[in-house]
Amino acid sequence: MNTRAPSTSAAPAPEPDASSFLEDAAHYPGGNAAGVIRPRSIDDVSACLREARRVLVVGAQSSLTGGATPFGDIVLSTERLTSISVDSDRVRVGAGVPLQAVQDELAKTGRWFPPVPTYLGAFAGGAVATCAAGAATFKYGTVREWVEGLTIVLAGGDVLELSRGECRATDGVFTISTASGDRTVTLPDVRMPDVPKRSAGYFIAPDMDLVDLFIGSEGTLGAIVEATFRTAPLPAALCRAFVPVPSEDLAIVLAGELRAAAIDTWRTRDPRGIDIAAIEHVDARSIAVIREDGVDRRLDIALPSGAAVVLLVDLELPATVAGQGLWSELESARDAGAADSPLVRFCRLLDRHGVLDDTEIALPADRARAAAFAELREAVPAGVNRRVAQAKQADPAISKTAADMIVPFDRFAEMMRECRRLFAGRDLDLAVWGHISDGNVHPNVIPRSAGDVAKGRDAILELGAAVIAMGGCPLAEHGVGRNPTKQQLLRQLYGSAGIDAMRKIKLSLDPNGSLASGVIFPPE
Ligand SMILES: Cc1cc2nc3c(=O)[nH]c(=O)nc-3n(C[C@H](O)[C@H](O)[C@H](O)COP(=O)(O)OP(=O)(O)OC[C@H]3O[C@@H](n4cnc5c(N)ncnc54)[C@H](O)[C@@H]3O)c2cc1C
Repeated sequence: MNTRAPSTSAAPAPEPDASSFLEDAAHYPGGNAAGVIRPRSIDDVSACLREARRVLVVGAQSSLTGGATPFGDIVLSTERLTSISVDSDRVRVGAGVPLQAVQDELAKTGRWFPPVPTYLGAFAGGAVATCAAGAATFKYGTVREWVEGLTIVLAGGDVLELSRGECRATDGVFTISTASGDRTVTLPDVRMPDVPKRSAGYFIAPDMDLVDLFIGSEGTLGAIVEATFRTAPLPAALCRAFVPVPSEDLAIVLAGELRAAAIDTWRTRDPRGIDIAAIEHVDARSIAVIREDGVDRRLDIALPSGAAVVLLVDLELPATVAGQGLWSELESARDAGAADSPLVRFCRLLDRHGVLDDTEIALPADRARAAAFAELREAVPAGVNRRVAQAKQADPAISKTAADMIVPFDRFAEMMRECRRLFAGRDLDLAVWGHISDGNVHPNVIPRSAGDVAKGRDAILELGAAVIAMGGCPLAEHGVGRNPTKQQLLRQLYGSAGIDAMRKIKLSLDPNGSLASGVIFPPE
């Protein structure tokens, strides 16, 4: 670990007009800022944090938790920290590089950064700060597993250069020596749920790496100014299947069998095995939103009238089979004499459950069709958010009322039953979509009144308690932010003692509480 003293240069002057930074994608009302600073270098960031009293570091402000909405802070926008350099299987990026730009740069060398969230406009720094995850987390993990190093500016301006493996906790304690003195961080005795996604307060594990403390810390422990990510070779070939399914129970069974088949393929390295990177899903109400908005007609995608769930499956094929007669494999999948291949095995699995006839598969060469399937999936949150915004025009007390729950996959069916019971029991209009391959869903209320918002929050808190009891996490990938319901879910997960212990970590690194005040923890 390298440390550098705070910059002695003058901090860039704040621009007084911060009007374009007052909202993030959660659309929290009442955002206000004391100005905005757009540093061009690490030195600039250090000078800002040496001087400023209250700072909120922001990326693309695509946060769904209000964590990137300022409330009286100076906004530190990372948009000008845009350096990027690719070196073999690593990429080093400034915090302000959009993830799409990371993918575009890596594609030139046949590589990619797999754990990206669905929204590729998010910045690298924001993705690290929230420990973002995405559709392909099932195969590739979250952003955390891909971070090799971070450059952090602490409150007060000290700069830390961290590489994974260099600084681990000893007996639950980190001692960080900086020019401004030693900072001792004591890790609490907290056990995180054993699920692949948990953007739920600080990462805590007995002999953890210091890099992991900053990943997912939502701007509360320091400004992430640079990150070094591992990268992976682009898959040789990717098929995307659009699979309408007549019931939610069957969709869960199918997702379970596809997951099991993929895990088996990774274990045995069978080149003919089914290799799944992601399974996304949208439920019946989400399908109705798509139909009401005419998205299926616009994209010319056939949605059978009996579809209760649509699964979107990303199937990776090995280099040896990519491009070789995939059409004929598809056509002959049901024939007894068909070649044994990943695609044929996939089709047969769907056929055993009677869903192959309604399935459409975009082969690797048909990227436009694969993009259309993804667009249909993305039209669901867009359509629901539009309905919330319309309802809000009639009643400003209405707001987005959404959850982000994950359970171990073998409890997924049970969680969905509980979810349906809790929201239907309150007569709420509910759309559910998400990353079914991770057991991660986003139940969203389509509110008709402020009363629905209140009832929706109660249902989310009750569902959160059930999810925790199932060994899951009620805060999977979006983080906690300023959302009071999410902050309450964090308290349900770790209890008041756990939250107090996490607050102590913040105080050891940011004793004046100058960074992201009110994010993760309610203001004291
Ligand atoms: C359409 C849509 C789809 C989405 N899909 C997904 C998804 O699939 N998976 C997922 O995980 N999320 C998803 N999100 C949420 C969001 O995109 C992610 O949380 C993303 O990682 C936020 O990045 P950002 O650059 O926009 O950060 P911001 O929203 O600007 O900030 C988020 C938080 O991180 C802090 N922060 C930002 N940059 C830094 C930095 N450099 N240093 C320290 N702190 C910082 C902020 O203070 C804030 O608390 C989605 C959002 C939208 C709008």
